[in-house]
Amino acid sequence: MRVARAHPTAMKARRREPRWHDGWWTGARAYASPNREPRSEPPRLVVLHSISLPPGVLRGDAVRRLFLNTLDPARHASFESLRGVRVSAHFFVRRDGLVLQFVAGDECAWHAGVSSWRGRERCNDWSIGIEIEGLEGRSFAAAQYRALARLLRAIVKQYPIAEIVGHEHVAPGRKRDPGAGFRWSRLARALSASNVGVWPRMQRSR
Ligand SMILES: [Zn+2]
Repeated sequence: MRVARAHPTAMKARRREPRWHDGWWTGARAYASPNREPRSEPPRLVVLHSISLPPGVLRGDAVRRLFLNTLDPARHASFESLRGVRVSAHFFVRRDGLVLQFVAGDECAWHAGVSSWRGRERCNDWSIGIEIEGLEGRSFAAAQYRALARLLRAIVKQYPIAEIVGHEHVAPGRKRDPGAGFRWSRLARALSASNVGVWPRMQRSR
């Protein structure tokens, strides 16, 4: 008698893919931020940012603390301007590709500020914000592009996302992140199979 055996690749495929639970993605490490509010419609936009605290320092827990309102302004001179600031993003992608989540996708995070896209204002109300650890103008790590692609594929499956843009596109003149060092074409290539939708038209292929 032949005993049916699962093929090794089938076994691998059965390994559990991250899922969504009440707007939380199990592929990320969850830290609930108080900086959030309910939304009245599903997100249709993803806004990409870059951040590092202090600027250019690509390690430590300052960004996480900023989003949780536990950053001590006395710890570094550059933190003084952040005293009392209440901000958040849904996701934070670290240099090694580790993904942290601070706000459920079903709620608004406070990442875009004064912003508009295609004539519509207040992008926070109808977007998901992703912070990528880095500095605008500098390059990002290969592990971050891989993690971003995986995260974005999960987001577009869960929410009716039409476009993925940068903070620099929804707040031109005021914001410049993720900046010239971010390779949109690399992300577009990684997502080409998943039919993500339209990318900003002003993006030149890099
Ligand atoms: Zn930003």
